[in-house]
Amino acid sequence: MKKVCCALLALAASSVAWGATPWQKITHPISGSAQSIGSFANGCIIGAQPLALNSPDYQVMRTDQRRYFGHPDLLAFIGRLSSQSRQQGLGTLLIGDMGMAAGGRFSSGHASHQIGLDVDIFLQLPQVRWSQAQLLKPQALDLVNASGKNVSDRLWQPEIGQLIKLAAEDQDVTRIFVSPAIKQRLCEEAGSERDWLHKVRPWFGHRAHMHVRLRCPAGSLECQDQPAPPPGDGCGAELQSWFEPPKPGSTSPVKKSPPPLPPSCQALLDEHVL
Ligand SMILES: [Zn+2]
Repeated sequence: MKKVCCALLALAASSVAWGATPWQKITHPISGSAQSIGSFANGCIIGAQPLALNSPDYQVMRTDQRRYFGHPDLLAFIGRLSSQSRQQGLGTLLIGDMGMAAGGRFSSGHASHQIGLDVDIFLQLPQVRWSQAQLLKPQALDLVNASGKNVSDRLWQPEIGQLIKLAAEDQDVTRIFVSPAIKQRLCEEAGSERDWLHKVRPWFGHRAHMHVRLRCPAGSLECQDQPAPPPGDGCGAELQSWFEPPKPGSTSPVKKSPPPLPPSCQALLDEHVL
């Protein structure tokens, strides 16, 4: 049952084509103390901040898209993760989409990333920093074989596993989405220390990047958190179900229209977008 729901959601997510959204017209953060409002896939943010574009520890991709805004907690997380990665000699972090200046719905590409608490991070850790041209047209590295069932041994590096573990061990992180094949590899390589695997969730796509999600910040009273992932390391039956063929009739295409906005986000649009 869970799988059916997820397949439908993914269909909706992968074919997001709702056209231009008013949120793209807001190019600068809404001033005020930081507030993530609504849910990860239907909300907005007041008081977002831009991620610093120059750092010795990370590089930001596709800055021309201006999707590098987030809640200060997200900026702090990226700072922690990237400096830990450097200290452990893992390489330079490549930061992908975060959110738009006031959050909200993208015209394409993501269903979530709407309240300043989500970030996509490439699963490659270059030892030599990328050029500006590479950052503007990043080459994603698909780590998963064509069958979708295995990670490519040629492309997988232990450092990628270390990076995902570091992120999962962060106190503010609640979920990390990766391809089921990548989760499988992490399950196989983890030793007796397995608590962190709990937060690593198998999901469609996510073969070249991980999507990291933080918990609702304290003080964001209108932020809707998700329930915690199911108990355990998630390496058993649930993960295996991802590798089974879909049951007939379990994935009928559904055209979903966007749900109504939380009232505070609608008010913000009314005030800032003509
Ligand atoms: Zn994402």
